[in-house]
Amino acid sequence: MKISSITCTPLAATPPRPVQFSIGTFSTFYAGLVEVRTDDGLIGLGECIVRRAPEVVTTIVDRLLAPQLIGRDPWDVEGLWDEMLTLLRRWGHSRGFVVEAMSGIDIALWDLLARSVGKPLYKFLGGAGRDQVRCYVSKVYFDEIPRMAEEARALVAQGHSAIKVQVGWPAARGGHHADVETVRAIRGAVGPQVEIMLDANGAYDVGTAVRVGRQLEELNVAWLEEPVPADDLDGYAHLRRSVRVPLAAGETEFGLFGFRDLIARGCVDVLQPEVARIGGVTAARRLWALAHAHNLLYAPHTGFSGGIAHLASLHLAAAAPNFYTYEYMGTSYIQNPLRDIFTAPFPAPKEGLIALPQGPGLGLEIDPGMVRRYAAR
Ligand SMILES: [Mg+2]
Repeated sequence: MKISSITCTPLAATPPRPVQFSIGTFSTFYAGLVEVRTDDGLIGLGECIVRRAPEVVTTIVDRLLAPQLIGRDPWDVEGLWDEMLTLLRRWGHSRGFVVEAMSGIDIALWDLLARSVGKPLYKFLGGAGRDQVRCYVSKVYFDEIPRMAEEARALVAQGHSAIKVQVGWPAARGGHHADVETVRAIRGAVGPQVEIMLDANGAYDVGTAVRVGRQLEELNVAWLEEPVPADDLDGYAHLRRSVRVPLAAGETEFGLFGFRDLIARGCVDVLQPEVARIGGVTAARRLWALAHAHNLLYAPHTGFSGGIAHLASLHLAAAAPNFYTYEYMGTSYIQNPLRDIFTAPFPAPKEGLIALPQGPGLGLEIDPGMVRRYAAR
């Protein structure tokens, strides 16, 4: 079996309403859909994360990486990953867009291999003995505080027992004072048993994060995510020593090198790799070992990514040794058309658990009509 073609198609879709969060307004979802074909007719699908300018990863896949892999054996997937990184590093690129492009190809190769033996990806990776995974519902975005509390109460009534809430209000809307008020209102609305995760998307400086963190201690928060900018590792380490609130981060890290530093400097309690950014399934699997060795929790990010990345992260969640919880995008604040591009509905949680799809590879079949509809070229 040899790889005969690799293509990347940019996808773009507009949600019914834009999402308001701490770093601005999000009004268009993007993804890079990677398709790998072999000479014996197999197909695997992957996704590169895209926030803006989808032509960047498309060009890297089509012009830099595909020519290296055509004619190669997909069963050498781990070695192909190393070769792609070696090639890119030689030119001075080991983070950023290039690793996002590698991610899409790598996911597609793993999907293809699992399909070739008729196994769902999480079993193919060496299952952890679970066919369903814990999840939390994400995210209650900015709104009037009473409306955010009402949304949280409605999510609990639907059966969710863990909820992520946006914090990092802009100064004009009350800043960190509004954040603490929001969490207090939501804790009051859902009661003491429900897990509340908070996500600041890097909105605080470290001094503000310490002040907010200390006020959150009495509100029993499950984690505070990206309290400070992702590259402020000293800030993370200082904050983790200063407050009794678990810290989570990792959605913006690339490859193992970013996570190595995050871990070695004692920055976080919960690791949140994004499969379509970290370097695909290969990089995520290598992170499991690192996380396990440091007794850190694994809680994959999904967020604004498309459906292929959400599915790949679900399979990784089901096979990870120290898995904690999966990010299920399911509040009324967000509807990403690119999450639901399959011929069957995306798996929904029941009582806080999501059952893994049992089809081969990623487990669901992509709807070609949806791909044509959202293809941006
Ligand atoms: Mg986040």
